[in-house]
Amino acid sequence: MQAEVVTIGTELLLGDIVDTNASWIARQLSWLGLNLFYTHTVGDNPARIAEVLRTCLGRSEVVITTGGLGPTVDDWTREAAAAACDAELELDQDLLSEIDAFFTQRGLVMTANNIKQAMIPRGALVLRNPVGTAPCFAIERNGHLLVSLPGVPFEMKYLMQNTVLPMLRERFGLHEVIKSRVLRTCCIGESALADLITDLMTSDNPTVGTAAHAGQTDVRITAKADDPALADRLIAPVEVRLRERIGDWVFGTDQETLPLVLQRLLGERGLSLATCEIPSKGRLSSWLLEAQEDTGSLVGSLVLVPPFQAHMRDGMALDLTLSSSQAECDAAALAVRAWFGADLGLAVTGSQTPAGEEPSMLYMAVATADGVVQGIPRRSRSGGTAAGWLLHYAGDLLRRYLLGLPQV
Ligand code: ATP
Ligand code: MG
Repeated sequence: MQAEVVTIGTELLLGDIVDTNASWIARQLSWLGLNLFYTHTVGDNPARIAEVLRTCLGRSEVVITTGGLGPTVDDWTREAAAAACDAELELDQDLLSEIDAFFTQRGLVMTANNIKQAMIPRGALVLRNPVGTAPCFAIERNGHLLVSLPGVPFEMKYLMQNTVLPMLRERFGLHEVIKSRVLRTCCIGESALADLITDLMTSDNPTVGTAAHAGQTDVRITAKADDPALADRLIAPVEVRLRERIGDWVFGTDQETLPLVLQRLLGERGLSLATCEIPSKGRLSSWLLEAQEDTGSLVGSLVLVPPFQAHMRDGMALDLTLSSSQAECDAAALAVRAWFGADLGLAVTGSQTPAGEEPSMLYMAVATADGVVQGIPRRSRSGGTAAGWLLHYAGDLLRRYLLGLPQV
């Protein structure tokens, strides 16, 4: 069973808005077990929309469009859908009354152009839209189904979840689900990680694949099965085998982020944290704070701007320069711990590499009640991924300390 998605709107082609509808629908279809081989974006032009729809309907059992159902002159989806299905547009009186009621209930007056919204292709099934004014419809052509939904993401999602997905499940007897489990690792590059699990990446069901981000590599296990419980049973043994190989690198699963995991680990241990950073320009603290509720483990941060010299209370002095060393980083971790009276002090020193320059060294340390745990000095990355790597290096130092894992 094959599906296609067509998102409609010139603003999408101009790059004025990002097409989030296509990716959201793609995920729903994959969960349903429908194959999605193409997605298309087309501007507000009736001939071009109709052309794309004809192509899609010629080869796919399900075609879903979003956008262009509004009342304005640049909303052409209903005309194009009618043309692609060789159907006339006709006024649906019930629909017209509903649109009228929608406006009346809100103390508004229906304008003449809203009448256009009550026009639907002959033979189409009207899909009620209780969360907006753009009525939607489904129409068949040679046994293939065209479903037209509004562009507003909230309305589109409502209709997909409440009407379209149940309809597709019923129509095609779809009970197969696709489920994924994501193991999130950090501080190991994608190729190094893949090298550890190559033989596990060749299976068919579940499949195992990797995806790289700055400082983080995800391993996704995806299973197809008749129900979610069966999918879980296919995934579980593969997850066990993966963890045997890469367990120490895995900081979390599914939606978890490293800051979220760190907040949880600190919270479980009742530990407070203070941070001191130079090269990351405040990103470390804001990264950690994003995962923190109103109260949390991070009690304070120092963002140092080189050349830096500060005299800290109780006679402690902190003197750091760009030529920083591990010893200076250790001192910063100890000082920030003492300054904020925290259980742990995490420091990152060194400089970030401007584009095109030789990488410089990053030093990291965690000061604890028992002394300093040093991170492995790292070469800073250059370009757009530098900040992501730095944050994960620092976060992973703390994670490994909290879990009693070796620093690697
Ligand atoms: P309306 O009745 O609101 O005009 P419509 O079906 O005509 O509904 P559009 O006018 O195409 O929808 O889009 C309405 C708004 O929805 C857009 O301005 C945009 O903010 C959002 N939108 C449309 N298409 C998409 C998309 N593919 N991804 C994300 N947002 C979208
Ligand atoms: Mg519109």
